[in-house]
Amino acid sequence: MPTIISTEHLHVRYNAEMALADVTFTISSGDYVGLVGPNGAGKTTLIKTILGLLAAESGRIEIFGRPAARFSEWNRIGYLPQRVASFNPLFPATVKEVVGLGLLGQKHFPKRFIPGDGKRIDRALELLEITPLRGKLISELSGGEQQRVFLARAIVPDPDLLILDEPITALDPQTRDNFFSLISRFNREKGTTIIMVTHDVGSIGQYANKFLYLDRKVVFFGPFFDFCQSPEMNKHFGDYSQHVICHQHD
Ligand code: ADP
Repeated sequence: MPTIISTEHLHVRYNAEMALADVTFTISSGDYVGLVGPNGAGKTTLIKTILGLLAAESGRIEIFGRPAARFSEWNRIGYLPQRVASFNPLFPATVKEVVGLGLLGQKHFPKRFIPGDGKRIDRALELLEITPLRGKLISELSGGEQQRVFLARAIVPDPDLLILDEPITALDPQTRDNFFSLISRFNREKGTTIIMVTHDVGSIGQYANKFLYLDRKVVFFGPFFDFCQSPEMNKHFGDYSQHVICHQHD
């Protein structure tokens, strides 16, 4: 399988504080990676570094086989931040317009919509079952509905890699299950590579094939099966935690 993201000995620091130390892993095409770790473990820092929003102090990152510094096809990556509120929810835009923004990143200047774009937007709305919300203002929607709109915006360009910060606050359990199932469908049916930052260590094993446990350094990276069979991880996490993470795989 082609490599989608690889990092080697990545170190990232905020002033005096080392946020990531010696982080090395390889994500292959079609992987669904559950990225887990305590608060402050560096999960967001890792995502921002992959997306080129933060500079590493040392180490290497390759994206789709190219050094990150020379990578330019950002439209191949869809990103759903945890807090959609970073987009001003009072901004007077309709659902269709917000989803359409996901296509503009692909275009060269001048950035204009072309005739096929309407169909692509409609398809994304259909996939997320939000067609009836098409003409509504984003400010009129519930948290769960807004999350779907932003997910539609992330998937409308048909990215090869989707990076998601799990929405933990805005969604009720049912909506959250639907969200997880939908992401799984992209992974299975379209082969989209997924990196899911999650706090839900008890559920992520249902969906993800790889597990990345970060605590400033990589505590574990690999298939769930290996994690669950590992005496070293059992020693690190204890029986109970390993069971919570692994009960899908026993
Ligand atoms: P996580 O997403 O796993 O909760 P973060 O990547 O947000 O962790 O943070 C990792 C560490 O870096 C934390 O100790 C956090 O306080 C620190 N940190 C994050 N962002 C900044 C920043 N902009 N300036 C200084 N320190 C930061």
